[in-house]
Amino acid sequence: MTSVGLHHVTAISGPARRNLGFYTETLGLRLIKKTVNFDDPGTYHLYYGDEGGQPGTILTFFPWNHVAPGKPGSGETQETAFRVPRAAISFWLERLVAAGAPHEAPVARFGETVLAFKDPDGLSLALVGVDGIEDEPAFAAGGVPAAHAIRGFHGISLLLRDIEATAGILRDVFGFTQEGQENGRTRFRVAERLGGVVDLQADENAPSGRMGGGSVHHVAFRAADDAVQAAMVRKLSQSHGIRTTEQLDRCYFRSVYFREPGGVLFEIATDIPGFAVDEPLASLGEALKLPSFLERDRARIEKVLPVLA
Ligand code: ZN
Repeated sequence: MTSVGLHHVTAISGPARRNLGFYTETLGLRLIKKTVNFDDPGTYHLYYGDEGGQPGTILTFFPWNHVAPGKPGSGETQETAFRVPRAAISFWLERLVAAGAPHEAPVARFGETVLAFKDPDGLSLALVGVDGIEDEPAFAAGGVPAAHAIRGFHGISLLLRDIEATAGILRDVFGFTQEGQENGRTRFRVAERLGGVVDLQADENAPSGRMGGGSVHHVAFRAADDAVQAAMVRKLSQSHGIRTTEQLDRCYFRSVYFREPGGVLFEIATDIPGFAVDEPLASLGEALKLPSFLERDRARIEKVLPVLA
């Protein structure tokens, strides 16, 4: 069975400039793609990730100037977590204090140190201090030294009324294994270093969440290529009675979407062709990139998009 982790997480934010400042300066991520929402081209789609834009490091946003805040609840991603070396947690605590970012005191979770915080739109994030990752490739950006830098996703936590059917899909379609339980969380993991953790939290009385600013819109799992993705689609249909959308070309990956039984929107995104398909790796994120079907509207699109800098 193919074991895969997260490809990207996509969330909804308020004004684009504030979002860009927080993720590139405060968190030291790289803006790896500046494009538009292909389904709503008057809105940016901003991608942040590591230096090379590897799957498993990518958090993306649809920034809307006037967005009502979302309401957390069941059927939603409750927390999106990044990996940092455990010794970097005190650096990050100071940095979040200096940035005025709401945060909690670090706590232990499954033997790791978790520093929970929120972005300017109230999106729930965490830095997870992990042992033994100090020597993984990292880059300095936004005043964050490489030694302390974020090293991709740790994983996500989903809040569900019932976790069984979702757990079945994680195991059967995406190759996760159940690793343990702690404080109402059931942890699933794949061997993949980046984005290899999904925690499911069950609360049968939790009210449904409402999508808005500071909400995760969907989470995408990796498939190496179209054939692997097609096999996952078949398995979803044959073993779980779930139909996905048709495959959509997202320029940097090809995607299918489905609503998992707990209510969270899942995507399966191919690793190919990747973010260097339409601009060199060295200048990722600098120019506004549009898919060919929107290129003829570039002047109109550039006029309605807010100024970023
Ligand atoms: Zn997506």
